[in-house]
Amino acid sequence: LIALLTVAIAAVVIIALFLGHRMMRGLADVGSVSVCWQLIGRGRYGTVFRGCLHERCVAVKLFSSANRQNYVNERSIYSLPLLQQHDNIAHFLSADERKTADGRPEFLIVMDFYPHGCLSRYLSVHTVDWSTCCRMNHGVTRGLAFLHTELNRGDQYKPAVAHRDVTSRNILVRADLSCVLADFGLSMRLTGSRPCCPVDNDTMAISEVGTVRYMAPEVLGGALNLRDCEAALKQVDVYALGLLYWETFRRCSELFPGEAVPEYQLAFQAELGNHPSFEEMQILVAREKFRPRFPEAWKENSLVLRSLKETMEDCWDQDAEARLTAQCAEERLCELALWWSNKSCRPTA
Ligand code: ADP
Ligand code: MG
Ligand code: MG
Repeated sequence: LIALLTVAIAAVVIIALFLGHRMMRGLADVGSVSVCWQLIGRGRYGTVFRGCLHERCVAVKLFSSANRQNYVNERSIYSLPLLQQHDNIAHFLSADERKTADGRPEFLIVMDFYPHGCLSRYLSVHTVDWSTCCRMNHGVTRGLAFLHTELNRGDQYKPAVAHRDVTSRNILVRADLSCVLADFGLSMRLTGSRPCCPVDNDTMAISEVGTVRYMAPEVLGGALNLRDCEAALKQVDVYALGLLYWETFRRCSELFPGEAVPEYQLAFQAELGNHPSFEEMQILVAREKFRPRFPEAWKENSLVLRSLKETMEDCWDQDAEARLTAQCAEERLCELALWWSNKSCRPTA
């Protein structure tokens, strides 16, 4: 009897594994996109698969019906005028709705496939040289500066937009290692006919979004300046940008001459581990005003190191109004890039 039972259990396990595998790698048709169910990423709102559209490799972000709002928002941001012409914004292809086998709606965003995945993943396996490091950060900053800018070009109007979830998992890396800003599910228009600035009872929704690890002190402390929502939300993005610089430059080989480049770490990972809680972040960042530590190797007082550290500190300043704008941060990175090379940076579009 025991032998029979063992065989039965083994059979069930094998069938379950087989079905699971089929679900991950089978072929399905989504409009004209054929999706090979190869999972390439998972976030808080969507699951991302690799697919094929007219023989071109694409990424398909799938949202369950529970995350419909996030989908609608992301789609509407990608559809804003001029956005898709920018080199440092992820390239959107189409959006679609369909029904699952059991009749529930689900939502898809089809976009370019970025072979290296997110920046965090790339940095966890690779170190980068100075010029690549500057180019990656410059690209992200340029994308953010563009997002933050209100533009009128002919009859096209692009409102200023806050990203509201700047993290190294929401930056994607192209094959040539240039970077784009992605994941606009929480983004918000700040100007124009439908700006989403606060109505009183919306205060919570406006301030407490994003990824706790990257939340600015004023968000954690409930002190976001909602009187000037446009400036406040841009400052929140720039705070997270400073953390992103720290994560990236810590993997830059030229900044650790004659020693091993430290392993990749997310901001505050050394202090709070992999799943910091809102309360832990509140104490560390808002109350104790703690920021990521600079490595010993950066103690040397060279002009370039001083300038790099200053740029990070000017992004993550406790005083939100003292922070750099994304445009200023872009200029700083341009200058940094020139230290070790004399290639010039492209000016902001
Ligand atoms: P969520 O809104 O759920 O956070 P994201 O859009 O951030 O979803 O995607 C989750 C993860 O999937 C990303 O962190 C990244 O690793 C991966 N990913 C997303 N889009 C792409 C893409 N176009 N190409 C390659 N990987 C992607
Ligand atoms: Mg994400
Ligand atoms: Mg998201």
